[in-house]
Amino acid sequence: MRLNQKDIDHLRAQALPARENFIANAWRPAENGRKLDVISPINGKVFTSIAASDASDVDVAVRIARKAFDSGVWPKMAPADRKQVLLKWADLVEANALSLAVMGVRDNGTEIAAALKGEPLAAARVIRFYAEAIDKIGGEITPTRAGILSLIHREPVGVVGAIVPWNFPLMIGTWKLAPALAVGNCVVLKPSEDASLSLLRLAELAAEAGLPSGVLNVVTGEGPIVGKALGLHMDVDVLAFTGSGPVGRKLIEYSARSNMKRVYLELGGKSPNIVFSDAPDLDRAARDTADSIFRNSGQVCVSASRLFVERAIYNDFLAAVAAHAETLRVGDPLDLANTTGAMANARQLEKTVAAVKTAQEQGARLVTGGVRLHELSGGYYHAPTIFADVSTRMEVAREEIFGPVLAARTFDTESEAYVLANETVYGLSSIVWTASLARAHRAVAAIKSGIVQVNCYTGADVTSPLGGMKQSGNGYDRSLYALDKYVNLKSAWIDLSG
Ligand code: NAD
Repeated sequence: MRLNQKDIDHLRAQALPARENFIANAWRPAENGRKLDVISPINGKVFTSIAASDASDVDVAVRIARKAFDSGVWPKMAPADRKQVLLKWADLVEANALSLAVMGVRDNGTEIAAALKGEPLAAARVIRFYAEAIDKIGGEITPTRAGILSLIHREPVGVVGAIVPWNFPLMIGTWKLAPALAVGNCVVLKPSEDASLSLLRLAELAAEAGLPSGVLNVVTGEGPIVGKALGLHMDVDVLAFTGSGPVGRKLIEYSARSNMKRVYLELGGKSPNIVFSDAPDLDRAARDTADSIFRNSGQVCVSASRLFVERAIYNDFLAAVAAHAETLRVGDPLDLANTTGAMANARQLEKTVAAVKTAQEQGARLVTGGVRLHELSGGYYHAPTIFADVSTRMEVAREEIFGPVLAARTFDTESEAYVLANETVYGLSSIVWTASLARAHRAVAAIKSGIVQVNCYTGADVTSPLGGMKQSGNGYDRSLYALDKYVNLKSAWIDLSG
């Protein structure tokens, strides 16, 4: 799809009415009547509102989801028919891609080109992937013994609670919704308060596609109120979460305090990017290094925020990455002339500004950036920033900033590079640049992260699993393995002798 400034401007000029919760395929205000202002990161101005729900709204949504599940309207629908509903949903998402993308950008500030590709278009692909899987995966017969029929049934768990962040709400949202719905569950989704609009519209499109009432419900509001209520609810069977580590910990606690629901966590990262001097294409490596940390202002879970460069090429490579960073045009994310948009909210910008200050105080060398941009616009913009000569005692090398800040240092030997790469509590993603096939395999084995990318920075594809090691989480989004999160395996053991 080709982007055109006139179409974007037309969509951005449209007023967005106040949004309510989407429950049982209808708009429904929060029971307490409260609303939350939605502030655009583009200019810091309020442009609409969402429902500021509380535990009572969550309870209503969960009851409705449970009722829909127990009625069998969705879990007992023939898989081939469920597939048709999801395929129609994907078509509608694609047909509305530009308006969904612009709405999302007004909410979270991602540059429009990345938002279009990474949000509605990616979401449509994710929905189709799981729709196509529905009628191809069945149960099993186990090899037991004569006279016994041992079956494994794959049953939907029931009611799934999904809690998602603001960085790529449609893509990350469908990573949870599509597999959960595909296998026949009903869902209550809690979007981030900083990116609810496009997910509400996504649910409306699902209803339009024929998803029965009560199967997908969206409740908006503050995390510590709405997310907590979902986490503590006694009738939610599985909780699927993407977000920060501290909130992930709370969800495990809520589960323990309530019904011990299964909790799947996709959390943060501090991903390493290792550049060996035999990298096949150092120009590409420099460009992808910049892309991997500066796209969406660094607000990407798999951003490679730690750069390790072999000493012989360190200065030249750093200069090349800085040159790429300096060509990026940060500004209004809906202006096609800009390559990089705004940070999603004031909190995230302040966190980045504070992290930059601390890095300087702790002795990291600033190579480029380091400043807030376009402050007068009222928006939340930050320059792509590179620190060199960092050491592991510095916060910039350890803490996830989730902003456009790269921390670089040298290494001398291959084994030192892997030790440095693994010197983190996280294990989400990594990148390695080398021409040696043997070294590439050694790197894949040595680096403790869910994804290892060799000679590329690809971002995401629904066919491969995304899951963290260590404190980056558990379980997998994407791929057919994600379906396992949303089913119970039931063993049926039938004596055939009678
Ligand atoms: P966050 O943890 O602050 O919020 C995530 C969601 O949790 C939001 O919907 C929020 O409202 C909700 N929430 C907040 N407090 C809660 C509570 N007490 N109980 C229940 N729910 C609560 O994260 P964020 O700031 O929205 O997103 C950034 C984080 O997400 C980063 O750490 C980033 O690495 C991570 N992330 C991970 C992946 C991945 O796939 N691993 C993808 C994207 C983002």
